[in-house]
This record gives sequence, structure tokens and C-alpha cells, in this order.
Amino acid sequence: MTGRIDRVAIVGGGFSGAMLAARLAERGTNSILINRTPDFGLGVAYSTPFAGHLLNVRSARMSALADRPDHFVRWLEANAPEHEDPEGFAPRMIFGRYVQARLAGVEAAHPGRIERVVGEVAGIGAGGVALSDGRRIAADAVVLTTGNPAPRTASGEAGAVISDPWAPGALDPVGAEDDILIVGTGLTMVDMLLSLEGRGWRGRAMALSRRGLLPRAHGELPDPPARASPALLNGPLSARLAEARKMSARSGWREMMEGLRPITADLWAEADIATRSRIVRHLRPWWDVHRHRLAPQIGAQIDRMLAEGRLAVVSGRVKAITADADGVRLDWRPRQGPAREPLTARWLLDCTGPGHAPEADPVTGPLLIDGRARLDPLRLGLELDASGRVLAADGDADPRLFVLGPPARAAFWETIAVPDIRKRIEDVVLALV
Ligand SMILES: Cc1cc2nc3c(=O)[nH]c(=O)nc-3n(C[C@H](O)[C@H](O)[C@H](O)COP(=O)(O)OP(=O)(O)OC[C@H]3O[C@@H](n4cnc5c(N)ncnc54)[C@H](O)[C@@H]3O)c2cc1C
Repeated sequence: MTGRIDRVAIVGGGFSGAMLAARLAERGTNSILINRTPDFGLGVAYSTPFAGHLLNVRSARMSALADRPDHFVRWLEANAPEHEDPEGFAPRMIFGRYVQARLAGVEAAHPGRIERVVGEVAGIGAGGVALSDGRRIAADAVVLTTGNPAPRTASGEAGAVISDPWAPGALDPVGAEDDILIVGTGLTMVDMLLSLEGRGWRGRAMALSRRGLLPRAHGELPDPPARASPALLNGPLSARLAEARKMSARSGWREMMEGLRPITADLWAEADIATRSRIVRHLRPWWDVHRHRLAPQIGAQIDRMLAEGRLAVVSGRVKAITADADGVRLDWRPRQGPAREPLTARWLLDCTGPGHAPEADPVTGPLLIDGRARLDPLRLGLELDASGRVLAADGDADPRLFVLGPPARAAFWETIAVPDIRKRIEDVVLALV
């Protein structure tokens, strides 16, 4: 298809969608920014009302603008000076204010270039998008910035199972002394424990995940990136892992991870499917806990809960969850060793993180059925070209359909955090304008 792209429909108004709209406006292109809720710019990450939820990236790296690395820190100095330390970890709600201020600032400077629409996108057609209430929005191109899908439910059980802990009010029923079971031991679990403690909860938590790994914390000071050695970048995966261990022992694991950060997307792009599959199956849990780290003060809070015996972590698999209005029972199989007694508690929180099922998604499902898109072989998401254009079933890139942000993981692997997304925004803008 040829012709100018004058009007872009952006599906999802979290950080990715809002900052893409701002960039497009600055480049003279109109967009319609569509979000389920009127809180444009926030998404799950930055809509938390709890000041104890801190960024997991230092402020100095959280600029929304790829070409102005100090943009967020300058904004903090002017608008939230109590958080101006560039090496500190500001509250996520403050970052949300920053994103909203940037969007509003661009709207004021480029009136009429961004149209905000509150609604649920239910389908994508050739000439734009359809909303669930029947409205149709004409556009020359569509960018999907829908973020991570809602969490999978731990079970169909009602009652004592809190299957979407992000849902507003989800933690309200948990009493101050109630014991809880948690499935999933990653960043969602940490957020939920912080929220619970913040509201005075003093109960105990028992958390289960397949490997029982907890997210690691940042050091007090930024870690200088170690130079990735040739042995880390080439050869079979097992040899590279051995080199990673050696490098970690030599220079520190945080330094090694920092060294990998700028080249991760390239390494992923170069990797064949067999290597990617091994990474996803075996390395991913280790990668995630070392790559997406906690602010040091939050790491200390989790350590304190462990030391007090208020948090215990086990590794194993869920066999069954049975719940009623009074409590929950979790049958599980330990990763190693003999069978163990079922776990019981008043509540179970599903902290397993987002469920990824592009086939079941009302927006991407029909694209897959119609052959306008195809899944990557590992089923991580839609297959994309290097600019983020969706590949059709025949392998041709659709010049008018893009994916940006976490759902672009199949193509870029690390496309979750702000420093990665802001770079990708520039690529999409370049391809669109
Ligand atoms: C709890 C949490 C903490 C995080 N902390 C950090 C951090 O400290 N630093 C960092 O760099 N990154 C962090 N991240 C990573 C985060 O993914 C990115 O920073 C960023 O928020 C991603 O934004 P997004 O717009 O792509 O997705 P989202 O924020 O998920 O936004 C997607 C938006 O699209 C809307 N939407 C989805 N489908 C539709 C539809 N069909 N119709 C209409 N609207 C739709 C959703 O309602 C949502 O508003 C965190 C993530 C989470 C979940």
C-alpha cells in the first residue's frame, strides 16, 4: 500500500502510546491516542497510588526522550526536587506525573495534533480501528502499544483467590493479620508485599515459583558496564554462559549485566531459533531476576521480611488450588525432594505476571486468523521486522501496522523498560513519518 501517513491510530495510551503520540506531534504527524481509561500516560506501571512503589531504574536513565537523557532529572529538579538525585529511584507515581506533563506539554505546543479517545479497541481493519462501542476511527496506520495483557488467573476459583492483584481494590479484603500464599516470586510479588505492608498488613506470606528465584537489587551506586568479551558474544550458549560466570566473578554480575544491556537486542536478533528457545526455556528466569532489579531500599525491605520469617519462598509447581470463601489450599510438588504437605492460607495472590496469548486477544487474534500477522516460532508474540512492522503470514511487512513496547518482545526481547522503549519509539517514528 502506498500513500502518505497523515493520521496514526495508537492503540493503548500508556507510556509507549503517549510518548509515541508526543514524538509524532513534534514531527508534524497527527495521531489518535486510544486508551481504555482517561488516565493517559500511566498504564499499570505508573498508575499506582502508593508512593512506596519505586522505579526499578535510576532516574538518570528514565528520560522519556532518547535524545535528551537528562530530561526526567531536569523535570524532577523543577517539579519534585525531593527526588532530584539522578542516581536515586523515584516513586513510580512521580514518573507518571512526568509522562503526563510531557504529553500535555506537547499537546499545548502542537494543538490539534493529538486526539485523545477513551475506549476499548476491539478490532483493526484496513482503514483504521473499531471500538467496542461501535465507533470507528479512520487512520492511515495503526500502532499497537497495548502493553502486557492482564495476568492469567491462577485458577477458576473465586473466593479466597485474588487472581488479578493489580485490579483496583484487589487487596482490600486482606486483613492486617491474614496469612497469604503467593504464586510467582517476581516483581509483581514484590509490589504486592510492599502495598500490603504500606497498608499495615503484618501477616506472613509463603511464595512459590518454579525456581524460587527472587529479583536481585541494584547496588547503592551505579555499576559501570563491563566490556563484553568475545567469548561472551560468540559460540555455543553453554560456553557463553560459562564465560558469563567467569566475567561475573571477575568484574561483578551487575557490571556484566550492564555490559550486555546495550547489545541485548542485537544478540537476540542474531540468535537462531534453537538458541532463542533455550534462552526462553532455561535462562529466562535467571535473566529476569538479574536484569530487572529492585531499588536497593526495596531489596532491603524484602530481605527484612525474609529475616523476620514473614516471607518464605519455595520452589515447585502448582498441582491444584482449591478455595472457598474462608481460605485456600495449594497442592504443590517441590522442585526437588519428597512430596510436601499442601499449603493453606486465608488468601492466594496470583503474581505469575502477564499472560501472553496473542491468539486469544480480541485485537491480535483476528489478525492471526486473517493472515495479516503471524506468531513467532516461540509464540512470544507477533513477528515483526526491525522497525516493528507486523509481518503477515506470507512474511511481508505491513507498512501500516506496528507493535511497540512489551508486546514486541519476540523481535527485540528486551523491550519492556523505558530506556529500551524510548529508543524503539524513534525507530517507529522514523518508519512512519
Ligand atoms: C508494575 C510495573 C513496574 C514497572 N516499573 C518500571 C520501571 O521502574 N522502569 C522502567 O523502565 N520500566 C518499568 N516497567 C516496565 C513498563 O512495561 C514500561 O515502563 C511501560 O510502562 C510500558 O508501557 P506501555 O505503554 O507499553 O504499556 P502499559 O503501561 O501496559 O500501557 C498499555 C495501555 O494500553 C491500554 N490498552 C490495552 N489494550 C487496549 C485496547 N484494546 N483498547 C484500548 N486500550 C488498551 C491499557 O489499558 C494500558 O493503559 C514496569 C512495569 C510494571 C508492570
